[in-house]
Amino acid sequence: MISDKMKEFVKGSSAIRAMFEEGNRMAQIYGVENVYDFSLGNPNVPAPAAVNQAIKDIVDDEDSVFLHGYMNNSGYEDVRSSIAESLNKRFDMSFSKDNIIMTVGAAGGLNVVLKTLLNPGDEVITFAPYFGEYRSYVGNYDGKLVVISPDTDSFQPKFDEFEKKISERTRAVIINNPNNPTGVVYSEETLKRLSQIMEKKQNEYKTDIYLISDEPYRELVYDGITVPYPVKYYRNTIVGYSYSKSLSLPGERIGYLVIPSDISDFENVYSAANVATRILGFVNAPSLMQRVVARCVDAEVDTSPYNRNRELLYNALLEYGFECVKPQGAFYLFVKSPVQDEKVFVEAAKKHHILLVPGSSFECPGFVRLAYCISYETIKNSLPGFKALAEEFIK
Ligand code: PLP
Repeated sequence: MISDKMKEFVKGSSAIRAMFEEGNRMAQIYGVENVYDFSLGNPNVPAPAAVNQAIKDIVDDEDSVFLHGYMNNSGYEDVRSSIAESLNKRFDMSFSKDNIIMTVGAAGGLNVVLKTLLNPGDEVITFAPYFGEYRSYVGNYDGKLVVISPDTDSFQPKFDEFEKKISERTRAVIINNPNNPTGVVYSEETLKRLSQIMEKKQNEYKTDIYLISDEPYRELVYDGITVPYPVKYYRNTIVGYSYSKSLSLPGERIGYLVIPSDISDFENVYSAANVATRILGFVNAPSLMQRVVARCVDAEVDTSPYNRNRELLYNALLEYGFECVKPQGAFYLFVKSPVQDEKVFVEAAKKHHILLVPGSSFECPGFVRLAYCISYETIKNSLPGFKALAEEFIK
């Protein structure tokens, strides 16, 4: 028998993964080129050449016993130093290795932070639409996820509701910038406003409310915009970063946490996060990948294929009559379903071999998510299907 708690998790298990499985099933029947799978955020741009070269060089150059061995649970010191220096250069910060913990991707990092901070019943606020796994991660530590309803015109935070929902039990607020599933980016003004509200509430309740900024898409931005660094705006910020999307390494499971020295109870938080890394069973982030990312701190994926896909898909969908906020980052479009129950639309799209994720997976029904990290050709070939859907549902 599985545990009661696990039964709940299984019941709520990811619709995105289910759609991905459906895609594989359909590909076997219709041929992979005839299935337009927009379901999973699995990067299709190759990792930079420097990454593969670094893997080869490290295996050739470094001592094998050292390379494959255990290290400090927070990660190799020289790797953490390289990352801290790179962040200092890029964002004008003053981090050291003692502010960095290497993690098993963003998912591992978020679990480490939440295990570190939450007592049972503590509240964690996030903004819909949000990455559905946040509910499971908060549930892992018996926290309660409190959701701010979406502003479906802009997908920017609803500040009034946010202020009202912060309580004495609020331990953390999770933001995701750039955002999955909408692709919107929070500006400096937005971060300042969030910070003001959180400062005010910390003072009112005499508590510490940590801002957890989940940033796996930080470098995937378009139209020349930059993503403000949240540590500059709010003292109690912890950043969760991942190379899954920025270096196209999702299967390698590598990322890091930034725990700035200025946060409340810094020393305890940092050392507890080190212990959490171990006792969650990660023990440490993958050793080879730590050494790889340290050698590739300045490497970047080519974002131009994503941008090309974004323009093609966004412009075509608008032309057919769909409504969508133009994304400035990540590789998702969050499109308004032409019928209120978006699951009806998702089913109709399947008839055209188009696989979409319902917005209810992100607690934002009435919308569908399209991951456009797939080939340009596939997107082009899917367009007649979208046109037919528009004719059926819009005109
Ligand atoms: N956070 C967000 C917003 C994501 O979209 C994802 C993956 O899609 C993750 C976290 C998990 O990323 P990782 O592969 O680094 O664990």
